[in-house]
Amino acid sequence: MSRFFSNKLFRYLSVLLFFNTAIPPLKSSSALAAWALKSNGYLELRTKSNTNLEAYFQKASNIYGDRFWIDFPGELKTPRKIKGNGPIKEIRLGKPITGKTRLVVEFTDKKNIKPLKWRLVGLDQNRWRIKLFSPQNSFKTIGEGFVNKKNIVIKTNQKPIDLNKRNYDYFRLPDLKQKNSFVIIDPGHGGPDPGAIGIGGIRETDVVLDVSKIVKKLLSEKGVKVRLTRNSEIDLDLSPRVSYANRMDPDIFVSIHANASRGKRRDVNGLETFYYRGWRGRLLAKKIQKQIIEVSPGSPDRGVKQGRFYVIKNTRMPAVLVEIGFLTGRLDARRLEKSIHRKRIAYAIAKGIIEYLLKVG
Ligand SMILES: [Zn+2]
Repeated sequence: MSRFFSNKLFRYLSVLLFFNTAIPPLKSSSALAAWALKSNGYLELRTKSNTNLEAYFQKASNIYGDRFWIDFPGELKTPRKIKGNGPIKEIRLGKPITGKTRLVVEFTDKKNIKPLKWRLVGLDQNRWRIKLFSPQNSFKTIGEGFVNKKNIVIKTNQKPIDLNKRNYDYFRLPDLKQKNSFVIIDPGHGGPDPGAIGIGGIRETDVVLDVSKIVKKLLSEKGVKVRLTRNSEIDLDLSPRVSYANRMDPDIFVSIHANASRGKRRDVNGLETFYYRGWRGRLLAKKIQKQIIEVSPGSPDRGVKQGRFYVIKNTRMPAVLVEIGFLTGRLDARRLEKSIHRKRIAYAIAKGIIEYLLKVG
Protein backbone atom coordinates (compact mmCIF):
# COMPACT_ATOMS: atom_id res chain seq x y z
CA MET A 1 0.00 0.00 0.00
CA SER A 2 1.35 3.40 -0.84
CA ARG A 3 0.32 6.37 1.14
CA PHE A 4 -0.07 8.16 -2.11
CA PHE A 5 -1.17 11.63 -1.20
CA SER A 6 0.93 14.07 0.70
CA ASN A 7 -0.89 16.15 3.22
CA LYS A 8 -0.61 19.34 1.25
CA LEU A 9 -2.71 17.87 -1.52
CA PHE A 10 -5.55 17.79 0.87
CA ARG A 11 -7.56 20.42 2.44
CA TYR A 12 -8.08 18.63 5.70
CA LEU A 13 -11.05 19.96 7.45
CA SER A 14 -11.14 19.48 11.11
CA VAL A 15 -13.77 21.85 12.24
CA LEU A 16 -15.24 21.25 15.62
CA LEU A 17 -18.74 22.52 15.35
CA PHE A 18 -21.10 23.01 18.19
CA PHE A 19 -22.47 19.70 17.19
CA ASN A 20 -25.82 19.87 18.85
CA THR A 21 -26.26 16.17 19.13
CA ALA A 22 -28.04 14.64 22.04
CA ILE A 23 -25.63 11.78 22.41
CA PRO A 24 -21.95 11.71 23.16
CA PRO A 25 -19.91 10.92 20.02
CA LEU A 26 -20.28 7.25 19.32
CA LYS A 27 -17.07 5.49 18.61
CA SER A 28 -18.88 2.88 16.61
CA SER A 29 -20.81 4.98 14.12
CA SER A 30 -19.28 5.78 10.76
CA ALA A 31 -18.39 9.38 9.88
CA LEU A 32 -19.46 8.64 6.31
CA ALA A 33 -23.04 9.84 5.89
CA ALA A 34 -23.53 9.64 2.12
CA TRP A 35 -21.54 9.19 -1.08
CA ALA A 36 -22.09 9.46 -4.80
CA LEU A 37 -19.87 8.67 -7.76
CA LYS A 38 -21.32 10.85 -10.47
CA SER A 39 -21.44 10.62 -14.23
CA ASN A 40 -19.12 13.64 -14.40
CA GLY A 41 -16.38 11.57 -12.76
CA TYR A 42 -16.59 13.20 -9.35
CA LEU A 43 -16.78 11.24 -6.15
CA GLU A 44 -18.75 13.31 -3.66
CA LEU A 45 -18.95 12.61 0.04
CA ARG A 46 -20.83 13.84 3.01
CA THR A 47 -19.37 13.15 6.43
CA LYS A 48 -19.83 14.18 10.00
CA SER A 49 -18.57 17.67 10.60
CA ASN A 50 -15.35 17.05 12.48
CA THR A 51 -13.86 14.41 10.25
CA ASN A 52 -10.34 13.77 9.03
CA LEU A 53 -10.15 11.66 5.90
CA GLU A 54 -7.26 9.62 4.60
CA ALA A 55 -7.09 8.73 0.93
CA TYR A 56 -4.95 6.14 -0.81
CA PHE A 57 -4.30 4.80 -4.28
CA GLN A 58 -2.98 1.39 -5.16
CA LYS A 59 -1.99 0.07 -8.55
CA ALA A 60 -3.60 -3.05 -9.96
CA SER A 61 -2.49 -6.44 -8.69
CA ASN A 62 -3.22 -9.93 -10.03
CA ILE A 63 -6.45 -9.98 -8.13
CA TYR A 64 -7.66 -6.41 -8.13
CA GLY A 65 -7.72 -3.52 -10.57
CA ASP A 66 -6.45 -0.07 -9.67
CA ARG A 67 -8.05 0.99 -6.46
CA PHE A 68 -8.68 4.26 -4.74
CA TRP A 69 -9.91 4.31 -1.19
CA ILE A 70 -10.74 6.62 1.64
CA ASP A 71 -10.74 5.75 5.31
CA PHE A 72 -13.24 7.38 7.63
CA PRO A 73 -13.29 7.30 11.39
CA GLY A 74 -16.07 5.24 12.93
CA GLU A 75 -17.26 1.81 12.05
CA LEU A 76 -19.66 0.93 9.27
CA LYS A 77 -22.82 -0.93 10.15
CA THR A 78 -23.10 -3.21 7.14
CA PRO A 79 -20.14 -3.90 4.84
CA ARG A 80 -21.37 -4.09 1.25
CA LYS A 81 -20.41 -4.16 -2.42
CA ILE A 82 -22.02 -2.12 -5.14
CA LYS A 83 -21.55 -3.15 -8.75
CA GLY A 84 -20.01 -0.45 -10.91
CA ASN A 85 -20.40 0.37 -14.57
CA GLY A 86 -18.23 1.93 -17.28
CA PRO A 87 -14.74 2.57 -15.87
CA ILE A 88 -15.77 1.50 -12.38
CA LYS A 89 -15.69 -2.17 -11.57
CA GLU A 90 -17.01 -2.08 -8.06
CA ILE A 91 -17.48 0.08 -4.97
CA ARG A 92 -16.89 -1.58 -1.65
CA LEU A 93 -17.75 -0.33 1.80
CA GLY A 94 -16.04 -2.18 4.57
CA LYS A 95 -14.39 -2.07 7.96
CA PRO A 96 -10.69 -2.76 7.36
CA ILE A 97 -10.00 -2.54 11.08
CA THR A 98 -12.16 -2.01 14.14
CA GLY A 99 -13.44 1.52 14.35
CA LYS A 100 -12.83 2.44 10.69
CA THR A 101 -14.91 2.67 7.56
CA ARG A 102 -13.31 2.22 4.15
CA LEU A 103 -14.81 3.25 0.83
CA VAL A 104 -12.99 1.52 -2.04
CA VAL A 105 -13.40 2.44 -5.70
CA GLU A 106 -12.02 -0.23 -8.01
CA PHE A 107 -11.42 0.63 -11.66
CA THR A 108 -11.75 -1.69 -14.62
CA ASP A 109 -8.97 -0.07 -16.63
CA LYS A 110 -6.58 2.74 -15.98
CA LYS A 111 -6.60 4.45 -19.34
CA ASN A 112 -8.59 7.33 -18.12
CA ILE A 113 -7.41 7.83 -14.60
CA LYS A 114 -4.64 10.20 -13.59
CA PRO A 115 -4.03 9.63 -9.89
CA LEU A 116 -1.27 12.25 -9.80
CA LYS A 117 -3.82 14.93 -10.53
CA TRP A 118 -6.31 13.84 -7.94
CA ARG A 119 -7.20 16.29 -5.23
CA LEU A 120 -9.62 15.62 -2.42
CA VAL A 121 -11.24 18.96 -1.77
CA GLY A 122 -13.30 19.93 1.24
CA LEU A 123 -16.32 21.93 0.09
CA ASP A 124 -17.57 22.83 3.54
CA GLN A 125 -17.60 21.36 7.03
CA ASN A 126 -19.05 18.08 5.92
CA ARG A 127 -18.82 17.79 2.13
CA TRP A 128 -15.92 16.60 0.02
CA ARG A 129 -15.19 16.07 -3.65
CA ILE A 130 -12.55 14.41 -5.78
CA LYS A 131 -12.49 13.96 -9.53
CA LEU A 132 -11.55 10.37 -10.32
CA PHE A 133 -12.06 10.10 -14.07
CA SER A 134 -13.01 12.20 -17.06
CA PRO A 135 -16.65 12.40 -18.05
CA GLN A 136 -16.24 11.07 -21.61
CA ASN A 137 -16.57 7.63 -20.11
CA SER A 138 -20.16 6.61 -20.06
CA PHE A 139 -20.92 6.10 -16.44
CA LYS A 140 -24.18 5.98 -14.56
CA THR A 141 -24.17 7.71 -11.19
CA ILE A 142 -24.17 5.44 -8.18
CA GLY A 143 -24.35 6.34 -4.53
CA GLU A 144 -26.07 6.03 -1.21
CA GLY A 145 -27.87 8.78 0.65
CA PHE A 146 -27.79 12.44 -0.26
CA VAL A 147 -24.34 13.98 -0.56
CA ASN A 148 -25.73 17.44 -0.85
CA LYS A 149 -27.88 18.43 2.06
CA LYS A 150 -29.86 20.74 -0.20
CA ASN A 151 -31.14 17.65 -1.97
CA ILE A 152 -32.84 16.26 1.07
CA VAL A 153 -36.49 15.90 0.25
CA ILE A 154 -37.68 17.25 3.53
CA LYS A 155 -36.02 20.20 5.12
CA THR A 156 -36.05 20.15 8.84
CA ASN A 157 -37.84 23.03 10.37
CA GLN A 158 -35.80 26.20 10.62
CA LYS A 159 -38.69 28.51 11.43
CA PRO A 160 -40.22 28.64 14.88
CA ILE A 161 -43.06 26.19 15.04
CA ASP A 162 -46.41 27.89 15.30
CA LEU A 163 -49.09 25.32 15.72
CA ASN A 164 -51.67 27.71 17.07
CA LYS A 165 -52.44 29.38 13.79
CA ARG A 166 -56.06 29.70 12.68
CA ASN A 167 -58.02 26.49 13.00
CA TYR A 168 -55.15 24.66 14.62
CA ASP A 169 -56.26 26.03 17.92
CA TYR A 170 -56.65 22.56 19.21
CA PHE A 171 -52.89 22.14 18.98
CA ARG A 172 -52.64 22.88 22.63
CA LEU A 173 -51.11 20.35 24.92
CA PRO A 174 -52.32 19.61 28.43
CA ASP A 175 -50.10 20.88 31.24
CA LEU A 176 -48.09 18.52 33.33
CA LYS A 177 -48.22 18.88 37.08
CA GLN A 178 -44.70 17.86 37.81
CA LYS A 179 -41.87 19.02 35.57
CA ASN A 180 -39.29 16.33 35.95
CA SER A 181 -40.35 13.85 33.29
CA PHE A 182 -37.65 12.63 30.94
CA VAL A 183 -38.35 11.26 27.47
CA ILE A 184 -36.03 9.86 24.80
CA ILE A 185 -37.23 10.13 21.23
CA ASP A 186 -35.56 7.88 18.68
CA PRO A 187 -35.86 8.99 15.05
CA GLY A 188 -35.43 5.75 13.07
CA HIS A 189 -32.62 5.14 10.56
CA GLY A 190 -30.30 7.95 9.40
CA GLY A 191 -27.25 8.69 7.27
CA PRO A 192 -26.69 6.10 4.55
CA ASP A 193 -29.65 4.12 5.88
CA PRO A 194 -32.68 6.08 4.65
CA GLY A 195 -35.24 3.54 5.88
CA ALA A 196 -38.36 3.30 3.75
CA ILE A 197 -38.37 5.12 0.42
CA GLY A 198 -41.83 6.06 -0.69
CA ILE A 199 -43.75 7.74 -3.45
CA GLY A 200 -41.74 10.47 -5.15
CA GLY A 201 -38.57 9.48 -3.29
CA ILE A 202 -39.83 10.58 0.12
CA ARG A 203 -37.45 9.12 2.72
CA GLU A 204 -38.31 7.76 6.13
CA THR A 205 -35.15 9.16 7.72
CA ASP A 206 -36.09 12.73 6.80
CA VAL A 207 -39.74 12.43 7.78
CA VAL A 208 -39.10 10.87 11.17
CA LEU A 209 -36.26 13.25 12.03
CA ASP A 210 -38.48 16.24 11.34
CA VAL A 211 -41.36 14.81 13.36
CA SER A 212 -39.02 13.88 16.23
CA LYS A 213 -37.58 17.38 16.42
CA ILE A 214 -41.06 18.88 16.64
CA VAL A 215 -42.07 16.38 19.34
CA LYS A 216 -38.99 17.42 21.26
CA LYS A 217 -39.85 21.09 20.95
CA LEU A 218 -43.47 20.61 21.97
CA LEU A 219 -42.63 18.50 25.00
CA SER A 220 -39.79 20.82 26.04
CA GLU A 221 -42.28 23.69 26.12
CA LYS A 222 -44.24 21.70 28.67
CA GLY A 223 -41.22 21.29 30.89
CA VAL A 224 -40.40 17.73 29.83
CA LYS A 225 -36.73 16.90 29.44
CA VAL A 226 -36.28 15.41 25.97
CA ARG A 227 -33.30 13.88 24.26
CA LEU A 228 -33.08 12.58 20.69
CA THR A 229 -30.91 9.57 19.88
CA ARG A 230 -29.85 11.43 16.74
CA ASN A 231 -30.62 14.90 15.49
CA SER A 232 -28.83 14.85 12.18
CA GLU A 233 -28.31 12.44 9.31
CA ILE A 234 -25.88 10.04 10.89
CA ASP A 235 -25.43 6.33 10.57
CA LEU A 236 -26.54 5.03 13.96
CA ASP A 237 -26.83 1.37 14.77
CA LEU A 238 -29.63 0.03 16.92
CA SER A 239 -27.48 -1.06 19.84
CA PRO A 240 -26.02 2.41 20.59
CA ARG A 241 -29.58 3.77 20.60
CA VAL A 242 -30.53 1.20 23.20
CA SER A 243 -27.40 1.57 25.31
CA TYR A 244 -27.80 5.35 25.27
CA ALA A 245 -31.38 5.00 26.50
CA ASN A 246 -30.46 2.46 29.17
CA ARG A 247 -27.62 4.67 30.37
CA MET A 248 -29.76 7.84 30.44
CA ASP A 249 -32.68 6.00 32.05
CA PRO A 250 -35.62 8.14 30.86
CA ASP A 251 -39.21 7.56 31.94
CA ILE A 252 -40.11 6.41 28.45
CA PHE A 253 -38.54 5.71 25.05
CA VAL A 254 -40.40 6.46 21.81
CA SER A 255 -38.99 5.31 18.47
CA ILE A 256 -40.54 7.01 15.44
CA HIS A 257 -40.74 5.28 12.06
CA ALA A 258 -42.71 5.37 8.82
CA ASN A 259 -43.77 2.28 6.94
CA ALA A 260 -43.34 0.77 3.50
CA SER A 261 -45.56 -1.99 2.17
CA ARG A 262 -44.30 -5.02 0.33
CA GLY A 263 -44.54 -4.37 -3.37
CA LYS A 264 -44.97 -0.66 -2.62
CA ARG A 265 -48.73 -0.96 -2.80
CA ARG A 266 -50.30 2.47 -2.99
CA ASP A 267 -53.54 1.25 -1.50
CA VAL A 268 -51.87 0.20 1.75
CA ASN A 269 -52.05 2.98 4.32
CA GLY A 270 -52.43 3.19 8.06
CA LEU A 271 -50.81 3.83 11.40
CA GLU A 272 -49.77 1.45 14.15
CA THR A 273 -47.92 1.51 17.45
CA PHE A 274 -45.89 -1.32 18.93
CA TYR A 275 -44.83 -2.11 22.46
CA TYR A 276 -42.92 -5.13 23.66
CA ARG A 277 -43.82 -5.68 27.28
CA GLY A 278 -45.56 -4.34 30.34
CA TRP A 279 -48.76 -2.46 31.02
CA ARG A 280 -46.91 0.85 30.90
CA GLY A 281 -45.59 0.19 27.40
CA ARG A 282 -49.04 -0.89 26.32
CA LEU A 283 -50.68 2.15 27.87
CA LEU A 284 -48.18 4.50 26.23
CA ALA A 285 -48.78 2.80 22.87
CA LYS A 286 -52.57 3.17 23.29
CA LYS A 287 -52.34 6.84 24.19
CA ILE A 288 -50.10 7.65 21.22
CA GLN A 289 -52.05 5.49 18.76
CA LYS A 290 -55.33 7.18 19.69
CA GLN A 291 -53.87 10.63 19.04
CA ILE A 292 -52.08 9.87 15.76
CA ILE A 293 -55.26 8.30 14.38
CA GLU A 294 -57.18 11.41 15.29
CA VAL A 295 -54.95 13.61 13.10
CA SER A 296 -54.97 11.11 10.20
CA PRO A 297 -58.61 10.88 9.10
CA GLY A 298 -59.30 8.17 6.54
CA SER A 299 -56.06 6.34 7.18
CA PRO A 300 -56.65 2.89 8.70
CA ASP A 301 -56.13 2.34 12.41
CA ARG A 302 -53.84 -0.68 12.41
CA GLY A 303 -53.94 -0.66 16.17
CA VAL A 304 -51.67 -1.25 19.12
CA LYS A 305 -49.60 -4.39 18.73
CA GLN A 306 -46.94 -6.32 20.48
CA GLY A 307 -43.74 -6.25 18.45
CA ARG A 308 -40.25 -7.62 18.91
CA PHE A 309 -38.34 -4.70 17.48
CA TYR A 310 -34.81 -4.44 18.84
CA VAL A 311 -35.13 -0.94 20.28
CA ILE A 312 -38.28 -1.67 22.25
CA LYS A 313 -37.23 -5.17 23.25
CA ASN A 314 -33.87 -4.19 24.69
CA THR A 315 -34.62 -0.86 26.33
CA ARG A 316 -35.35 -1.22 30.01
CA MET A 317 -37.97 1.55 30.37
CA PRO A 318 -41.50 1.54 28.89
CA ALA A 319 -40.84 1.78 25.17
CA VAL A 320 -42.90 2.02 22.01
CA LEU A 321 -42.28 2.12 18.27
CA VAL A 322 -44.67 4.31 16.31
CA GLU A 323 -45.31 3.84 12.59
CA ILE A 324 -46.76 7.16 11.48
CA GLY A 325 -48.00 6.00 8.06
CA PHE A 326 -46.98 4.27 4.85
CA LEU A 327 -44.60 6.28 2.66
CA THR A 328 -45.57 3.89 -0.11
CA GLY A 329 -49.29 4.52 0.45
CA ARG A 330 -51.03 7.14 -1.65
CA LEU A 331 -52.93 8.73 1.21
CA ASP A 332 -50.23 8.62 3.88
CA ALA A 333 -47.35 9.69 1.60
CA ARG A 334 -49.22 12.69 0.28
CA ARG A 335 -49.80 13.76 3.86
CA LEU A 336 -46.39 13.00 5.29
CA GLU A 337 -44.66 15.07 2.64
CA LYS A 338 -46.51 18.13 3.96
CA SER A 339 -44.95 19.97 6.82
CA ILE A 340 -48.32 20.76 8.44
CA HIS A 341 -49.19 17.08 8.65
CA ARG A 342 -45.81 16.26 10.17
CA LYS A 343 -46.55 18.94 12.77
CA ARG A 344 -49.95 17.38 13.45
CA ILE A 345 -48.39 13.96 13.88
CA ALA A 346 -45.72 15.38 16.16
CA TYR A 347 -48.39 17.13 18.17
CA ALA A 348 -50.36 13.88 18.41
CA ILE A 349 -47.34 11.93 19.63
CA ALA A 350 -46.53 14.65 22.16
CA LYS A 351 -50.14 14.66 23.36
CA GLY A 352 -50.15 10.88 23.75
CA ILE A 353 -46.93 11.08 25.74
CA ILE A 354 -48.28 13.80 28.03
CA GLU A 355 -51.51 11.88 28.62
CA TYR A 356 -49.45 8.88 29.57
CA LEU A 357 -47.25 10.92 31.88
CA LEU A 358 -50.33 12.45 33.53
CA LYS A 359 -51.64 8.98 34.24
CA VAL A 360 -48.45 7.22 35.27
CA GLY A 361 -46.27 10.14 36.38
ZN1 LIG B 1 -38.21 2.32 9.98
